[in-house]
Amino acid sequence: MRRLTILGATGSIGVSTLDVVARHPDRFEVVALSGHRQIDRLAEQCLACNPRLAVVADVEAAGVLQAKLAGRVRTEVMYGPEALELIAALPEVDTVMAAIVGAAGLRPTLAAARTGKRILLANKESLVMAGGVFMQEVAAHGATLLPIDSEHNAVFQCMPAQGNAGVRRILLTASGGPFRCTSLDALDHVTPEQACAHPNWDMGRKISVDSATMMNKGLEVIEAHWLFDTPAERIDVVIHPQSIVHSMVEYVDGSVLAQMGNPDMRTPIAHALAWPERIESGVSALDLALAADLVFERPDFARFPCLRLAFDALQAGGGTPAVLNAANEIAVAAFLERRLGFRAIADVIAATLDTLPHTPTGTLDEVFAADAQARVTAARIIEART
Ligand code: NAD
Ligand code: MG
Repeated sequence: MRRLTILGATGSIGVSTLDVVARHPDRFEVVALSGHRQIDRLAEQCLACNPRLAVVADVEAAGVLQAKLAGRVRTEVMYGPEALELIAALPEVDTVMAAIVGAAGLRPTLAAARTGKRILLANKESLVMAGGVFMQEVAAHGATLLPIDSEHNAVFQCMPAQGNAGVRRILLTASGGPFRCTSLDALDHVTPEQACAHPNWDMGRKISVDSATMMNKGLEVIEAHWLFDTPAERIDVVIHPQSIVHSMVEYVDGSVLAQMGNPDMRTPIAHALAWPERIESGVSALDLALAADLVFERPDFARFPCLRLAFDALQAGGGTPAVLNAANEIAVAAFLERRLGFRAIADVIAATLDTLPHTPTGTLDEVFAADAQARVTAARIIEART
């Protein structure tokens, strides 16, 4: 029996996780859930799985949730960032799904690492911000890190069982998002609704915009670097609009191993939940005849400048990826609030990186300092534009 905490239970990944878990009541018990501000959904989830603890954003949200649950389930309601760390580190929990979006996921995911949990990592931002510190904590405390991001889960499945001997390159596939063929002029006028309408995947709004700018793939290159101990020069991005091949590993003998499946996050979630076993996920079987043509193309760095910015940030090292990530979060939020144009997202990130070129990050405090400084800088740059 695995005992689970799901951080970000109310999001897209959280909901898919609970769907897989509900198919296997003999294997999984939900001990704690977090939901920030989506209280109605979190209440439904608590009523369905009766966790011991639930965590929300603040005292008001906690009051609302408590009222909905009173007398119906055993769930104790807590709130705030410390409570997130607490449910990630509970002694009776062995597995933590890290599915909070953005930098807010870093501290609770680190708490899971420091208590030696099996971490199912969806929150790629924590590795982008603090990959060095994070991987050290995982190793020092004997935690198990399993990737949920579909590309990294695919790479994990195609890698050798130990290390990366014989591996020549990692090939991360990318759908190219909704604007792969949109004219560059038209990109100036795309709306948040258009950016969030991904052709193949149903995801949260922030990652949907990241997919449209291809910053998502940039963040994933940095994530792959840390997860698989592979330098940027040996990570390639391949555009594959059908999202059937989820990524590939090329070996020195010329073999290329690919992992395929329908684009549904329940596959990587089920894989990591049960690893090294295999369990049903609810995902329908892949019909290759129906998928028909699988297309592969090189990425267009002129159309997707965010991808170049991320490769450069990884090469620069230190605090630069943390600055990139924070500037991106601020720019994407401004775009979603219609305060910034779509193509200006990359401009704001580039200008923030130019303003803060050398930021050290040996320690966690330095990571958070770089993150905070980049947020203020990016916000100022956006304000100056309007
Ligand atoms: P989402 O927006 O649907 O859900 C985010 C979750 O985080 C929600 O439960 C929300 O309540 C919580 N949350 C938001 N802000 C918070 C804060 N400040 N403090 C605490 N909790 C907060 O996002 P998602 O699409 O489920 O993505 C979650 C993570 O998984 C992201 O890091 C994303 O990059 C990654 N990911 C998602 C997908 C996907 O298909 N959705 C695929 C690969 C990776
Ligand atoms: Mg991905």
